[in-house]
Amino acid sequence: MRELTAAGFTAYWAGGCVRDLLRGIDPNDYDVATNARPEQVRALFGPRRTLAVGESFGVIIVLGPKGSTDKVEVATFRQEGDYHDGRRPGQVSFCTPEEDALRRDFTINGMFFDPLTETVHDFVGGQGDLQRRLVRAIGNPRDRMTEDKLRMLRAVRFAAVLDFELDAATAHAVAEMSAEVTIVSAERIAQELRKMLADRHRARAMQMCADLSLLQQIVPEADESSIRGNPERWQSVLQILGQLSTTRFETAFAALLRDVPQPKTGKQRLEPASGTVLAACLRLKLSNDETDHICWLSDHRGAIEALPEKPLCEFKKLAVHPLYKELFELERVAARVEGRPDAAYGWAEALLKAIPSDELDPPPLV
Ligand code: ATP
Ligand code: MG
Repeated sequence: MRELTAAGFTAYWAGGCVRDLLRGIDPNDYDVATNARPEQVRALFGPRRTLAVGESFGVIIVLGPKGSTDKVEVATFRQEGDYHDGRRPGQVSFCTPEEDALRRDFTINGMFFDPLTETVHDFVGGQGDLQRRLVRAIGNPRDRMTEDKLRMLRAVRFAAVLDFELDAATAHAVAEMSAEVTIVSAERIAQELRKMLADRHRARAMQMCADLSLLQQIVPEADESSIRGNPERWQSVLQILGQLSTTRFETAFAALLRDVPQPKTGKQRLEPASGTVLAACLRLKLSNDETDHICWLSDHRGAIEALPEKPLCEFKKLAVHPLYKELFELERVAARVEGRPDAAYGWAEALLKAIPSDELDPPPLV
């Protein structure tokens, strides 16, 4: 910021980092918006400290001083126009800070901050909404959701994760247009779902997705099996999601899909994942590891309950899996919510403590 300002440019922190700073929270990353053109940013910081990843969008990555791993996205104030596929702008053009603020999604995400003078530049009423704890689209919500349908999921995510309300007009636009969210690529949808489910406010996020008819679009399996199929079960799923203390997306996703029809298990309870869970993972283009983990958690539903009557080696087999703690957590919470005795989980945990840890190391891969 100092280097840009010393060279005569205007430079502000922009977007999410300003929102977090004003809430008194350490931002994950700092984005800079400036009136310097991309080529001027490159000239100022030199070729060794810059990466022209998105030069045509006006974005240059600036690396920190030698030896640091810092990197900052420096973007020229820009307008985005010509949205025609409901996903991304057809063109960008350089503009004033105010116009740059107006292209952003929500008022709380649309502010600038000048750290050198400690001034907030708020063209969109973001500070008021931050105080009111409100997620509100900038401009006409319908138009903004039409431009980029991912904003519907972002609206829910920010409201849930920040524990804010969704502005009524914004919520109304989402509810009306929810069917169009599937235009967005599976990768971008999955990325929002990861962020919602990894967060401790995941139950509220899923409840809001269900209320706004987004869930039936992005995870129709959950919708069919519980929300519409069995509303009481949906309440249990929400309770499980709310009580899970994990930070892992996979565990929460397995919980969300708890009620999809499982294959008949008979005596042997460890069956391959039900095709439905696997199909959901594939549709969302989750990574292979995520898919394996989710299917493993789904397959081993009920496995712990059966263990006390099994030989110790069965228990060890389960306990060497990298996700066994996640399975314990999920099944214990589910047992509590579903009103089943959760004694088996206490037993399993006591046993775990009693077994020397080297006996629980995963067997070497041959
Ligand atoms: P977090 O990184 O915590 O998810 P963030 O607000 O930093 O939150 P990013 O996706 O990193 O979100 O985007 C940075 C900023 O860019 C946002 O604060 C917003 O101003 C703008 N932005 C991001 N995505 C969109 C979008 N789809 N439509 C409009 N503006 C967007
Ligand atoms: Mg960010």
